[in-house]
This record gives sequence, structure tokens and C-alpha cells, in this order.
Amino acid sequence: MKLRDKGKNRPEGKFKGFGLAGDTLKERSRGTLEHRKRQLRGKLILINSALALVIIMVVLVFRVVALNRRDTVEVSDNVNKQAEAESGKKGSQKKEKATPEPTPIETEEPDGSERWLRKDLDGGKPMVALTFDDGPYAPVTERILAVLKKHDSRATFFCVGNRVPNYTSVVKQAYEQGCQLASHTYEHAILTKLKKKKITWQIEKVNEVMQEAAGCKTTALRPPGGLVSDKVKKTVGVPMVCWNVDSEDWKSRNMKKVLERCTAIGDGDIVLMHDLYPTTADAIEKLVPRLVKKGFQLVTVDELFYYKGIKTKPGEVYFSGK
Ligand SMILES: [Zn+2]
Repeated sequence: MKLRDKGKNRPEGKFKGFGLAGDTLKERSRGTLEHRKRQLRGKLILINSALALVIIMVVLVFRVVALNRRDTVEVSDNVNKQAEAESGKKGSQKKEKATPEPTPIETEEPDGSERWLRKDLDGGKPMVALTFDDGPYAPVTERILAVLKKHDSRATFFCVGNRVPNYTSVVKQAYEQGCQLASHTYEHAILTKLKKKKITWQIEKVNEVMQEAAGCKTTALRPPGGLVSDKVKKTVGVPMVCWNVDSEDWKSRNMKKVLERCTAIGDGDIVLMHDLYPTTADAIEKLVPRLVKKGFQLVTVDELFYYKGIKTKPGEVYFSGK
């Protein structure tokens, strides 16, 4: 109150102190004073409105922020509740499961042989094992798989490991059809030229990519070029499977010539082909129905040895089921 009074009185005091003479002068100065007061009031109103606006805006911003925060809290609350409910459910499921016998944990990785060794075939009927090296190569491998599937037949694919990651789906498809996935080393390496450590690496690396692609290991190896040494035999750890019928498909790249080389196929034969060439797929599309019509069972190499009573050993080389 005191301050306000002081301010009110000050101008009057000032004017008195100036000691201005005459009515006109007084009126003029009063007019100016009024004008200034009006200006000041105007400014005050402006400042007040600006302040009010700022306050309104600040309040609005705070409200928006507060609303957002509430939403987030509600959402996270819901998420937490859901998670709690689910874990509760799981917990109760676990409890329900825990009452019967606990399921045994499988520690050993499957090697795949369970899938590609049928034990319900007719051992008295002729058998032939078609084998394909140097793949996978989807455009050709897929065609071969389609024919095999159509005729309820199987074959063995000696895959080059470093090709597998590029064609995982066709590898998986072969596995699911019961075809045998075997090794042709990781880099199509001539094993006789390698040191023991490198040989092991070539074998293990193939199993790594097979595990990734189809969930299995390989149980047979075809050494590139058919080249084997004592060191290779001692190192590979699986039976080595060569062939006794060479289709020479890589050389002729001609369907008719491939078929000609396959006319003499007999019981127990292992046929060498390559799932890289469309001409090989052409030949297979003719050969598979022909062999089936002749009464052959088209089997994997593991099946051939199983039915022919050949007990394969790691490091040994096999050329046929005869
Ligand atoms: Zn090869």
C-alpha cells in the first residue's frame, strides 16, 4: 500500500515542485500526463495479455505432456499385466507338465541316417544308388528332386560345403524327401594334397553348414577326384564312397550320351552324376521312370550297403554294393 501511495503522489509533487505558472500550461501538462498514462496503461494491457497467453500456452504444454505420460504408463502397465498373465499361464502349464514324466533331453545331434535309411524296403529286389556330386545347384537339384519324389525314389547328394549356404532350401528339401546328404569336402579339395589338420577342417566345415541348412551331419564322403591316401583314410572319420558306373555327364553334357552310359545299370551299382548341368536333369527325367519300370529300387548309398549286408567302416573306400 505504501509503495502504491508513493507512486500516486510523486507526479503531483513533481509538478508542484516545477512551479509552472498559468492555467493553459497546467492544462497542457495535465493533457500530456493523461496521454502518457493512457500509453502506459495500453502497454500494461499488452504486456498482461502477452503474459496471460504465455501462461496459457505453458499450461497447455504441461497438460499435453502429462496426458502423454499417463498414456505411456497405462500402456506399459497393460504390457506388464499381459506379461504377468502369460508368465502365469506358462507357470501353470509348466506345473501341469511337471506332474507327468519329464521328457528326456536329447544331447546328441542327429546325423541324418535315421531319415535316409529306410528299413522297410524289399532286400530281394534290385537296387541302384544314383549319386550327384559338386552341387547343390537349385535349378538342377530341384528338377532331380521332383523326379525322385514323383517315383518315390531316393538318391545321395555329395555336396560341396561352401555351396550349401547359397542353396539351403534345396538342401533341406532333399533331406525332407529322405535323400542322403553327404560330403564332397568344403572346397572340393583334393584331400591327398592336404595336411591332416586341413583334411579335418574340410570334413568338419561341411557338417557345420549341413547342420545349419538341414539339421544333420554327413555320414559318407566322396573324395574329390576319387583320390585317397593312407593319411586321408586315417583322418576322414567316415566311410568313403566312390562309384562303379560313370555317366560322364560333365564331359558330354548331352542327355542321350548320359543315358547310353546308363543302359547297363545293374543291381548294386553306384552311379556317378553331377547336379550342375541341365542335361543331367534331362537324363534323370528319363532314367528314373525307366529304372523304376524295370523293377529297380532307387536308394541312398547307406540303404544300398545296409541291404547288401556291407558293414562300412570309417576311412574305407567303397565302389558299389556288389
Ligand atoms: Zn567333384
